[in-house]
Amino acid sequence: MTNDELERLPTLTWMPSRIPVLDALVASIPKGAEFSKDRIPSSYEQRWYPQEDGSVRLMVPYRGGEFDNELFHIERSAWNHTTCDLCVAHIAAMTLCFVTERNKYIALCSSCYWKHVVKRQSFLAQIVWRAKRLVGIHAAA
Ligand SMILES: [Zn+2]
Repeated sequence: MTNDELERLPTLTWMPSRIPVLDALVASIPKGAEFSKDRIPSSYEQRWYPQEDGSVRLMVPYRGGEFDNELFHIERSAWNHTTCDLCVAHIAAMTLCFVTERNKYIALCSSCYWKHVVKRQSFLAQIVWRAKRLVGIHAAA
């Protein structure tokens, strides 16, 4: 994230979220294989895991529909976390996090949301945030 993007975080519209566990489309791409990224379904998030043998394990969330079954297979419940876009902490499924409501999708852990969004808003916004946490309003989201 660039400094400009970081500075704009408090101006974006955020909502509390808890990502559900989803099935994933998984592909194992051999080392050095020619591979067109056009074969990857469009998704807000992709994960590329380098393997010890030089291959790459590619995962995208799967919500149903057709897919390239020569490249991908479905792994049930394999999409079980998201990653904070600032500190890259793993956010387990059904754990409170904060996501942008529109435009570019950004997900932040609670700690980064406090530090980079709430703390840079007005004092009143900070009081409201603390009050919501005390009464568990976000916990119910
Ligand atoms: Zn974070």
